[in-house]
Amino acid sequence: MRKAGTPSFADKMHRFFTTEIQPNTAVVRGDDVKHIAKVLRLRAGDVVQLCDGNGRECEAAIRSVSPDAVTFDTEPWREAITEPHVKITLFQCLPKAGKMETIIQKCVELGARGFVPVQSERCVVVLKPPYEGRIERWQRVSEEAAKQSRRGVIPQVELPVSLDKLDFTGFDTVLAAYENERTVSLKAALREHCGSRVAIVIGPEGGFSDAEVETLKNKGAVAVSLGTRILRTETAGMAMTAQILYEVEL
Ligand code: SAH
Repeated sequence: MRKAGTPSFADKMHRFFTTEIQPNTAVVRGDDVKHIAKVLRLRAGDVVQLCDGNGRECEAAIRSVSPDAVTFDTEPWREAITEPHVKITLFQCLPKAGKMETIIQKCVELGARGFVPVQSERCVVVLKPPYEGRIERWQRVSEEAAKQSRRGVIPQVELPVSLDKLDFTGFDTVLAAYENERTVSLKAALREHCGSRVAIVIGPEGGFSDAEVETLKNKGAVAVSLGTRILRTETAGMAMTAQILYEVEL
């Protein structure tokens, strides 16, 4: 039995993100205040986990609760142990209504680091500006999933980009999932080369056109097969994220 008050990873300790951090103290504001005070009924002395959304976390005891802020005494900050070393960004061609939420939620749980919605030829949904409302909703989904799965960062959802404008600068490895790829498997591609910043590209329900596959290859992507079965677009990103982390993480 561990001692009371000693936090362990398995504890169901509540977790909150904040960027308002000073030496030995931190403040949480916004919707979380109501959640802490009214829903969870936490009081001075109660201990939670805080995360700076940038890969660091600590235990923190509530010092005071006011209507718009909760102030904490913080223990030393440390590297969050939940972050994979390999940072996966999912370039997801826009799926039909509602599926993007599921994709973001599950891929955050699995360890993806960021999302770029992609407009491609066969997307049924065409996103029209202003994009902000939609992106904010997806960003909230990411934050909720990050809290629930105890991530050390809140993965960012970027503005939509059309496939021909994609720019993979800054990525070490770019893998496009292509169901007609017969020779290169994901496993083979990863064993050949896998850097720490990985972009994965998933087509929409109708898949990529041949011209789009060429465009992706010209931009440095390696087309890979995820196996002999055709996965739905919302399954492919999750499966690929899980398989990459299984292959390359300790
Ligand atoms: N319309 C296509 C399937 C598209 S599946 C057809 O019916 O033939 C949607 C996307 O998921 C694809 O564009 C691809 O990126 C990915 N995908 C699904 N199954 C895959 C597989 N076995 N290998 C690689 N990518 C796959």
